[in-house]
Amino acid sequence: MKFYLTTAIDYVNAEPGLHHAYEKTGADALARFHRQRGDDVFFLTGTDDNATKNEQAAKAAGVDTRTFVDRNAAAFKRLCDTWNISYDRFVRTVDPDHIAGVQEFVRRWIANDDVYLTTYEGLYCTRCEAFYEEDELVNGRCQFHPDNPDAIQRVKEENFFFRLSKYEKALRELYERNPGFTVPEYRRNEVIAWFDRGLRDVSVSRGRSLKWGIPWPGRPDHTVYVWFDALINYVTGVGFGTDEKKFKKWWPADVHIIGKDISRFHCIYWPAMLLSAGVELPRKIFVHGFLEYRGQRLSKSSGNMIDPFASAEEWGVDAARYLVLREAPFEKDSPISPELLNARFNADLANGLGNLVSRTLAMVAQYCESRVPDTGAPGESERMIREVAERALRDHDGAASELRFADALAAIFSLVDAANKHYQRTQPWQLAKSPTDRAPLEAALYAGLEAVRLVAYLLYPYTPTVADRITTQLGVPLASTSKWSDVARWGLLRKGSPVSVGAPLFPRLERTTAA
Ligand SMILES: [Zn+2]
Repeated sequence: MKFYLTTAIDYVNAEPGLHHAYEKTGADALARFHRQRGDDVFFLTGTDDNATKNEQAAKAAGVDTRTFVDRNAAAFKRLCDTWNISYDRFVRTVDPDHIAGVQEFVRRWIANDDVYLTTYEGLYCTRCEAFYEEDELVNGRCQFHPDNPDAIQRVKEENFFFRLSKYEKALRELYERNPGFTVPEYRRNEVIAWFDRGLRDVSVSRGRSLKWGIPWPGRPDHTVYVWFDALINYVTGVGFGTDEKKFKKWWPADVHIIGKDISRFHCIYWPAMLLSAGVELPRKIFVHGFLEYRGQRLSKSSGNMIDPFASAEEWGVDAARYLVLREAPFEKDSPISPELLNARFNADLANGLGNLVSRTLAMVAQYCESRVPDTGAPGESERMIREVAERALRDHDGAASELRFADALAAIFSLVDAANKHYQRTQPWQLAKSPTDRAPLEAALYAGLEAVRLVAYLLYPYTPTVADRITTQLGVPLASTSKWSDVARWGLLRKGSPVSVGAPLFPRLERTTAA
């Protein structure tokens, strides 16, 4: 099966933050999960380079706009590379194929009589680059930029408008017919509430003197409004308007992964834009929550930032990936702080997983000459741990396929905990003292090794490097390259095959800050 997923593309007007790494890591876990299960995956991420404010920011910085956006986009690409994000394409909205695809998309609107020119006056948030109705503001301020009194401006200009109102009925039907189009459900309910205001036509071009942006077909004095240009990356990123064969292969997207602040654009405007252009709709839009730090959303606009490069260095990339997805459930808003992550690191990674792997391999080295022992005589504890392992495999896949990564990781760590408890119950170090206990000793260690092996394969989407380090120590096929159906069953370790003790996976450190 093909699986096509996307993240939002990021504004390049500031440095990346931990919240950017969070969205990309969730998407990356999903991409790796599908690849591991045998799907043919295309993972698109990238940058939104065409915001008009880039032109002003570049002027202020004394460089030309292209130089400015190239420099800033490089930081987001570096973020992906640092966090081991396995994207298939890093699309930029200055890419020539994107520009060609956007113009083709707009031509289809024009051919469908879905755009018209009019003079518009409205309330515009210069930070969101979006128009709002009076009653959508909070005390006259943008709900996403409440600290910035100057963000909202009254703007009057000649714009092309898109006939969103024409698609209201079709969109209502879409949400009735397909309740899973926007998930989680409480996000879907927010979208439905927007219908109650009625859908008004929306401005889709800018006619000001600013030249940065994609020229409107037939009217080069207008540029395509950056939000609409940006949304179209999801189709141009896989060939719309330039490579029909590629586009046919990947579209529709199986899931768009976005933050809640941009759900109106994705859940209302984007499907209407696609209907107008005669393009099939995506299968699903997943709206993830915000990370909150010191009681406030992490974002560049609030100035509340955690540096994702420092975090990756401090924790290690795999640990950082694990910590954000485990501590902050992808489907809701979550408080996060260096203290919370530190506690999680010590409990789950250093004491839980790291300890399990090192003690298992140390005991196998000491009592079995670093070779996989016989399955021995499985007793009650071995049967229990096998049951936990088989339940973890099922529960993990159910949660991961719904992007509930915290639950998916909890399923994996139920096996980590069960294996550590298994050693407390069976006490292999006691069994080793008596030659008559050889069979129960081997059974206890075999079950422990099997638990470690399955944990490593299950962890691959989240901690790919650590998963490979564990499978290397076990002398089994690498987590990153093995076929799921060949490895994801209890009891595949072969008696006598060599294992090796490696360096500690997560050295326990006293940390107080990752920022
Ligand atoms: Zn705003």
